[in-house]
Amino acid sequence: MPQRPPGQSVICHLSFVMLRSAIGYWLCAAPSATIHLLVLDLWRNLGLFPETDMPDAPTSSVPILMYHRIATDGPSGLARWRLAPDLFAAHMEALHRAGYQTIKLEDWADAIDQRRPVQGKRIVLTFDDGYSDFLTDAVPLLRRYDFSATMFLVAERIGQTALWDAGFGEPAPLMGWEEIKSLPKEIEFGAHSCTHQKMTEMAPTDLWEDTVKTRKILEQSLGVLIPTLAYPYGDQNESVRQIVREAGTRAAVTTESGVSKLGDDLLQLPRIEIGGDCTAEKFNWLMEHDWKEADGQSVGVESL
Ligand SMILES: [Zn+2]
Repeated sequence: MPQRPPGQSVICHLSFVMLRSAIGYWLCAAPSATIHLLVLDLWRNLGLFPETDMPDAPTSSVPILMYHRIATDGPSGLARWRLAPDLFAAHMEALHRAGYQTIKLEDWADAIDQRRPVQGKRIVLTFDDGYSDFLTDAVPLLRRYDFSATMFLVAERIGQTALWDAGFGEPAPLMGWEEIKSLPKEIEFGAHSCTHQKMTEMAPTDLWEDTVKTRKILEQSLGVLIPTLAYPYGDQNESVRQIVREAGTRAAVTTESGVSKLGDDLLQLPRIEIGGDCTAEKFNWLMEHDWKEADGQSVGVESL
């Protein structure tokens, strides 16, 4: 079989790289339009933007990881929602090594709103409940890699304990106001209700009041806007989504498993649960398989 001369091959390759870069620039910089997504999908399907060989390629999907406690000790019944600090460190190092950069949930919500792809390999890190160990065992690692994160706070339990865990044993301490205020600016905050009640079990007026009150407490105490929310226990339905939207919530994350994509319902964003048994090997497997479920098992089911 005749071989292409080496010089011609290099010129063809450079032309291809330049064309690909120009289209990538247009996808990210030009005003948003549905046609961008169609072109992006076509390009991806043709294999012209493999993430491994073009780390700054535009992307229309972003995994939203869900963590709870970063700790080793606690009731055995809560082990699923408690990841050892050394495993968390391994996860962050793996993301960094794979070329991931974080994007804040609010920025990803903007991108979804505008149907605009984001640049590079992006990931959203979320932490539910406001446990004190976030400050001591997660923040130093986040700072090391310049990662942002979203912490969902239970407004009327700040500085107390996770009373909703009491059925399992001694509830873990939660960060106080001064600790929360001391967090780096890369940490954004979201609402997680006043007292961590299931939202489908609340009367519509109670849910509306709870959502407004949660945001008011957090915004007045922290001096920042709180446009996002995580449903306690992932418990939500169409009625709940409508009420929290009417109460001023812009975007909300669930515990439904999946990678978030442009076109998602902003009040029903899926997440990927990172459980207490998520070893470095399992984390790498998820990452290398585009965050698809391992062995057909759901990695994101109902949780705290
Ligand atoms: Zn929770």
